Amino acid sequence: MADVAVLSVASEVFPFVKTGGLADVAAALPAALAREGVAMRTLVPGYPAVIDAMPHAQAVHAFPDLYGGPARLLAGHASGLDLLAIDAPHLYARPGNPYLGPDGRDWPDNALRFAALGACATAIGRGEVAGYTPDIVHAHDWQAGLAIALLHYGPVPRPRTVMTIHNMAFQGLFPAHLMGTLGLPPHAFGIDGVEYHGTISFLKAGIALADRITTVSPAYAAEIRTPEFGMGFDGLLRHRADVLSGIVNGIDDAVWNPTTDRHLAARFDIRHRTNRARNKTALQVRLGLAVNSDVPLFGVISRLTWQKGMDLVEAALPAILERKAQFALLGSGDTWLEQRFAAVAAAHRGQVAAVIGYDEDLAHLMQGGIDALLVPSRFEPCGLTQLCALRYGAIPIVNHVGGLADTVIDANEMALAAGVGTGILFAPATSERLMLAIRRALELWRHPGLWHRVQSRAMATDVGWTLPARKYAALYRELVAASPA
Ligand code: ADP
Repeated sequence: MADVAVLSVASEVFPFVKTGGLADVAAALPAALAREGVAMRTLVPGYPAVIDAMPHAQAVHAFPDLYGGPARLLAGHASGLDLLAIDAPHLYARPGNPYLGPDGRDWPDNALRFAALGACATAIGRGEVAGYTPDIVHAHDWQAGLAIALLHYGPVPRPRTVMTIHNMAFQGLFPAHLMGTLGLPPHAFGIDGVEYHGTISFLKAGIALADRITTVSPAYAAEIRTPEFGMGFDGLLRHRADVLSGIVNGIDDAVWNPTTDRHLAARFDIRHRTNRARNKTALQVRLGLAVNSDVPLFGVISRLTWQKGMDLVEAALPAILERKAQFALLGSGDTWLEQRFAAVAAAHRGQVAAVIGYDEDLAHLMQGGIDALLVPSRFEPCGLTQLCALRYGAIPIVNHVGGLADTVIDANEMALAAGVGTGILFAPATSERLMLAIRRALELWRHPGLWHRVQSRAMATDVGWTLPARKYAALYRELVAASPA
């Protein structure tokens, strides 16, 4: 029996609408939390993909005017989730990317679209929707941030609030003249409220006013309190440090399961790890690489951007090429990087392959076939690829930053002697340090016994949602036990 009721408020949820990791977290948490005695319902905007997925939904509430038009709240189940969807065609009946119009720019009414998400969360939080009053409203990223402010400035009692930051880079900035339209009192426009350098920031609303703030790894929770990573919010986050913590994400271990993965040429687990070799061969054939099990195959599966340090990979390739090792990349992003990797692949046929694009199926085969995965991100709130790599026995080679630092244990001399270590860490994020890390991996490769022990420990790492859900559940219970708002 659940003893805590939480309303999760998210602007995207897999498999309906996804632009980033937030969608995966919003989709995975409820089932994992149910096992911890937490009942989570999820409030999402009624984009066409959401409404279509809930053909039997019941209307449980009506809003005569929700920021420019009538709206209904629909309750229903889809994809294993207990959903509340905001059916507001004037705001959400737009297919495709949830934030951008066909011209690739933000929808001009995004302030209203996501204020509506906050306002509905507030109405539910206050018990205005029949039969349901959550103990906690849990808002994800700036799109849900206004819920925290509307609850904060509204009447008491109110539910407790949690704000989770998945990405500091998006801050939900809107002109100050919208204050009244959004339903915020004038005094909310100040340094302790939603004001941010003369504008309204939905992210600031969440960070400044939530009872608790979480982000997606403990290391990132520390980093965002510094000017280097705080993106302008480091001062406020230092001020709120006593309510800020980090909880790493998990991966869906049913989707990412090497014993059942139908995208693999051969399925495997720790005891049948030799089957990995068949995936490596299949990958080499598919990508036009020389079929050779004796040379290590390094891989990248990533957005090709500055954040991900992809320019560093390009600069560090000589460390791989000079030792006759192989390199395979799957990614898309900045045009100059796409062109550069395609050119390197053309110049080193058989040794380097670059697949430019997004290919979920190939990503699975790559995780099962490459020997090591390079993740030299300059910043990384959590990171998922290194978690998949651990599960599939691809040794992660990662920059010591954010969630990468929290999830990979460096297999240095002492660690190896102590029987720990699941990958290779380096810092800072420079091509020289990445080259050194690659050379460490090549050295490890020369000692198959050591390599296999690191690989086995990587595969044994718990990267599912059980532990993260336990931490969220503990945080919710602490909040509920604290004095009422
Ligand atoms: P981010 O969300 O910042 O891009 P993450 O590591 O948190 O980075 O998650 C990215 C996810 O998308 C990973 O599971 C990764 O394997 C996958 N991915 C990234 N690029 C590609 C691609 N080109 N094809 C298939 N999957 C990809």
